[in-house]
This record gives sequence, C-alpha cells and structure tokens, in this order.
Amino acid sequence: MPGVSMLPPGLKSKLMIPRPILLPLLLSIVIHAMSASAQDKGSVDPKPLPPLANPGDPKIGAKELFARKLLPAAMPTKVLGSYVKGCIAGAEQMPITGDTWQVMRLSRNRYWGHPDTIALLKRLSVKAHKDAGWPGILIGDIAQPRGGPALTGHASHQIGLDADIWLTPMPDHLLSRDEREEMSAVMMVREDRLDVDPKVFTPGHVLVLRDAAQEPSVQRIFVNPAIKKALCREAKGDRSWLTKIRPWYGHDYHFHIRIACPPGASECKGQPDQRDGEGCGAKDLAYWFKDKILHPEPPKEPPKPRTGPTLAQLPAACKQVLNAPDAKQQHRDRDGVLIPSQLPLK
Ligand SMILES: [Zn+2]
Repeated sequence: MPGVSMLPPGLKSKLMIPRPILLPLLLSIVIHAMSASAQDKGSVDPKPLPPLANPGDPKIGAKELFARKLLPAAMPTKVLGSYVKGCIAGAEQMPITGDTWQVMRLSRNRYWGHPDTIALLKRLSVKAHKDAGWPGILIGDIAQPRGGPALTGHASHQIGLDADIWLTPMPDHLLSRDEREEMSAVMMVREDRLDVDPKVFTPGHVLVLRDAAQEPSVQRIFVNPAIKKALCREAKGDRSWLTKIRPWYGHDYHFHIRIACPPGASECKGQPDQRDGEGCGAKDLAYWFKDKILHPEPPKEPPKPRTGPTLAQLPAACKQVLNAPDAKQQHRDRDGVLIPSQLPLK
C-alpha cells in the first residue's frame, strides 16, 4: 500500500478497520499527495546508502537499519510481527525473470518474501498467462531482504506476506535493466476518477484479479475504488471472491495482495478474514466517490517526515534477524545460470 507510510502512527492501526467511513478525511489528503509513489522510477546504478553515524541510537527509525541489509538473515524462515510492524527471517528471493513474470524496479531490492508468497506469485503468473492470455505479470515491491519498515513507499510489506502486482500486463519480451527501472505502468482509472478507463482495463484484468482472490491463502487485495466498482459490475458466476477485494487509496497502477499468516507461523500477527459480503452495494462504495475523497484539498503544509517504528517497537526477535549474518542467496537467470543476487541483471 504505497503512500500509507506518511500516516501518523495512531492512524495506521485504523487501516485495518474495514469500514472506510471511519477513516478521517486527513488520510485521503495525505495519501493522495503520495499516490504517485507507486510509479517512482529507479536507477540501474543505485548508490549504496551511506553508513549510519550512530546505528545503535535507540531513537533511530528501524527503516534506516533494515534498508541497509542487502541480503536475508541466514536463519530458518520465520515471520515475526504484523504487516505494518515486523520483519522476516530466511526470506526467499523472487527470481527476477521467469517464463511468465518479470520483477520491476530491481534497484529497490524489495523482491524478497516468505516462500509461500514467492510460490503464490509464480502460480498466479502462470494463471494470468493461461486465463487472461497475458504474456505474464510484472511484479513490484514484495519486501526487503529482512522485511521491516522501508525508507519509502509503504507502511506494510514488512513480513514478506504482501506483494504488489502491476496492472500492466508483462510485455512479450525480456525487459532490460533500464526498462525495469524506467518503464511506467498504465493508469487504469478514468480521468474523472469515477470508473476505470475502458481503453486499458480489460476483461483480462478481471480474470487476473479473480484468480488472485480465489487463492485460499490470499486474505485481502487492495485496488482503487473505481476498479472495485468495475469488478462488481463485470464479475460473472461465483462472485464470492469479491469479498477479498478492498477499495483503497492509490492502487490505480497496481494491486496489492496480502496473504494470511502461514500455517504454524506462531509469531505472525495476522488479521481476521473479510466477512462483509461482496462489498458491491451502493452504500459500500458511496464513501469512495464523494467529491471530497476524489478531489481532496491539498494539505496546507507538507506532511512532516516520520521516523516510523524503532527497533525496540518491533518484535524483540527482529533484533536477531537484523544482526544475523547474510544468507548466501543465489538465483538463476532465464537461461538457468546461477547469479549471486547482488549482481544486477545484464
Ligand atoms: Zn503494496
């Protein structure tokens, strides 16, 4: 959920409340101001972050520490904490290229996740190809190598169980490093924000979103309200999967998948299943199409940068995850050649 990171800490917990009507207007203003972040471009030559002057300072944001870890912790896989306050040990890398997927914005180094998330993304990419006829899917942020809060873009995505998928189908060729940093996703929402743009939002999109929502481990999918509205109109046959599709700010270039805590992950703090029906009634969607939500007044002052949670505010075991040695991760490129994951794709 890009954009959410700018929220005051007290509001973050409200993001879990399924009733959008409870959300203060402030939220929409802040998020609208941030909604471009989904399309931040990267660089093929990212500069390493400078070392911290005082990494042991207890007041420092945990994001400063986790963003400086380039590889996962050499520990067995373990999910610690919640989507918005946690970390992950033993994360797996999403291979940056597969037959039916390509990972975007490699410079962000957020292509790490729980093995269940990685397996799910691979499976969904095959389904997008078979069901929607897409060459494949483009994958955005999953999590940092050890999860935790990030310097930019999200409040969630901290435990390797969230993933962003572009609403732009994968092109039918191998994208270069440059294209993966520079290419823009396609805006799916019409200019008046009241519905999708029928020139770009196709029946294939409905199938890709349906396939994702029908995965048993997927608990929630965040999309722009105009996309939710379109799905409500277009879904045929069994519509029970619509329950998992939640309208949210932004998400007009990509959708966000959140999976439940994996079985046996006793230190993962999940969320209850969605239980409020299809969410397609006029009342369910009315909030999102109010003029003050669609066209909020810009904030009088730019939002102040926030430190986010400190290491002490994350589960205690995240300190071990942070301090563990690097895992020796490798992945295979399209030709099956093993590449150390730090090396950029040619
Ligand atoms: Zn997201």
